[in-house]
Amino acid sequence: MRIVSVVLCSLLLTGCGPKVASVAEKVVARVGIAKSLFGSETTASRDAPNPLGFYTNGCIAGAEQLAETGPTWQAMRLSRNRNWGHPETIDFIERLSKKAAQIPGREGLYVGDISQPRGGPMTSGHRSHQMGLDADIWLVAPKRLNLTRTERENISATSMRRAGGAYTNSNWNEGHHALLKAAAQDPRVARIFIFPGAKVAMCNAEKGDRSWLNKIRPWYGHHYHFHVRLKCPAGAKWCEDQDPQPAGDGCADAEQWVRDILNPPPPKPVDPNAPKPQPRRDLTMADLPQQCSNVLSPPR
Ligand SMILES: [Zn+2]
Repeated sequence: MRIVSVVLCSLLLTGCGPKVASVAEKVVARVGIAKSLFGSETTASRDAPNPLGFYTNGCIAGAEQLAETGPTWQAMRLSRNRNWGHPETIDFIERLSKKAAQIPGREGLYVGDISQPRGGPMTSGHRSHQMGLDADIWLVAPKRLNLTRTERENISATSMRRAGGAYTNSNWNEGHHALLKAAAQDPRVARIFIFPGAKVAMCNAEKGDRSWLNKIRPWYGHHYHFHVRLKCPAGAKWCEDQDPQPAGDGCADAEQWVRDILNPPPPKPVDPNAPKPQPRRDLTMADLPQQCSNVLSPPR
């Protein structure tokens, strides 16, 4: 891996003079494939917590590590070292796990990927999860919270879908509804992604307040886990929120997803003159917010 470092004097940006000498920290612009650089970080940066950029293009300074095991949770797949997030995310998970433990048949939460120690693009698996504000929670109800490291590596997650995600299967129950509802009712949560059949199942089962359903968004995959996305925390001025979803419970939209799964619409006619779609390329450091260069460890 070739890392080219360019050192710029921040004085050039802020004006030179003795008055600013104390803040003349070097801005180190890093060059390279971002996932290689962020994927090799093993600890958080020693900064105040600061999510930078966007969920699919960013990083996090000063992340906190979710304890591998707590009274009501276990982090899974520890070898990935993705149990890092913004302190609000860690707090959200811990609180949700307490509520989860109150649900019959469930001891708490099995927690999947949050972010890498400094966020950024991952070497595998996700486009988002880059700012420490996204977390995957396994859908299967934990029966015990003393899984060994090896078990956490090897235990397989349980799918909750049938018919390609149009419906839930027999593993789904009202405990999932209660858990997703508790998650969505946390005001820090922006949205939650889950397969369409689960959203429709919750739409049909909910007889009380429906406002939380707005945050439950049907999406591809997401039948082994659901994905929680937090809003940018207060004061995180370099963090960009996603555009808000349309008002309402979103149930009609989820029903349309289900119809499209069961009866896929014919493919759109191809415009022979349209430019060929480009394969998605890896994000480089130049794509990420500039501050993410400083979140990385100094080049060795
Ligand atoms: Zn996810």
